[in-house]
Amino acid sequence: MKALNRKERFKKLFPDEPQYRLEQVNQALFSDAKNWDEVSALPSSLRLGLEKEIPWLSVEAKQLVWNSRQDTCKALLTANDGLIFETVLMKNKREQWTICVSSQVGCAMACTFCATGTMGLKRSLISDEIVDQYRFWKQYLREHPELPQRISNVVFMGMGEPTANYESVKEALHTWLKYTDLGLTRITVSTVGILPVLKKILEDPEWPSVRIAISLHSANQKRREEIVPTTVPHFLEKLKTWSHDYAKKLGNRRHHITYEYTLLNEVNDSEELAHELAKYIRGTASSKINVIPYNPVSGKSFHRSQQERTDRFKEVLRGYDLTVTQRKTMGDDIAAACGQLVVINS
Ligand code: SF4
Repeated sequence: MKALNRKERFKKLFPDEPQYRLEQVNQALFSDAKNWDEVSALPSSLRLGLEKEIPWLSVEAKQLVWNSRQDTCKALLTANDGLIFETVLMKNKREQWTICVSSQVGCAMACTFCATGTMGLKRSLISDEIVDQYRFWKQYLREHPELPQRISNVVFMGMGEPTANYESVKEALHTWLKYTDLGLTRITVSTVGILPVLKKILEDPEWPSVRIAISLHSANQKRREEIVPTTVPHFLEKLKTWSHDYAKKLGNRRHHITYEYTLLNEVNDSEELAHELAKYIRGTASSKINVIPYNPVSGKSFHRSQQERTDRFKEVLRGYDLTVTQRKTMGDDIAAACGQLVVINS
């Protein structure tokens, strides 16, 4: 049975508390308080009750590792049931922080190049465990006043497929949007593209229109099936149709879709595949593609695309008037980069 989140536990444990208490509790969780005892807005009897029943933070740090450039820090967090997952703090070009959050412990998608995929799915995180990755880093930054303090962006590019944990991810998004200064365009949900869930996003009036990044990795159906084994038949055609529906419903200059493309040497980085990708993207409702240098994963036979192949690939795409960006590799020396997150949960 799925564990109750804070809101549900509060209602169950303190049924006689007035409605506004929950709001006070939520505000306190995003204040500078370090524990329940410091939340003076709440009566002391309730503070004691909360202290006993509901942990201030739903996760505990097990280990923190900074990379050599000191611009990326990976944290291993332990959940209540002892399972461990990862979250990453990365300095961005505004000298603020982007945090990469996990939505699941492990992942069922089994993308062939990804370390997390080798773990299988242990379980989905509850909304508090997602929300608290932000709170964990906020608290860490407060304890380190020498570091920039602002978390300006959140990306769901840690462990797990966020759309496979739809309700908890949605709840976490609403919580951040309400209680932090993160706006819709500062949060990106990255997904391999589970088509029924993508459809649901368009039909759900409560889905917040944060940015969506589709992990494409190939615009050739057969090649994509090899890289992302959960790819369903006719995926690319259906995704193209969906992209137009998305643009009609939610898209605008600020809420566009981005395609993510991990360049794997001599797997999906040929000129031929670049042309195929460019033609495919031009048929969709977005023209933004972010190429990602592959980060080595032990036990995998994939390699980072050679520089000249990467350059040629991007040149072909630009020849079709696409907006091509390249993700900066961060934290690869501490296995905190994209696709490298893995922990052993016994
Ligand atoms: S790349 Fe993302 S979706 Fe694929 S296995 Fe890794 S974590 Fe899961």
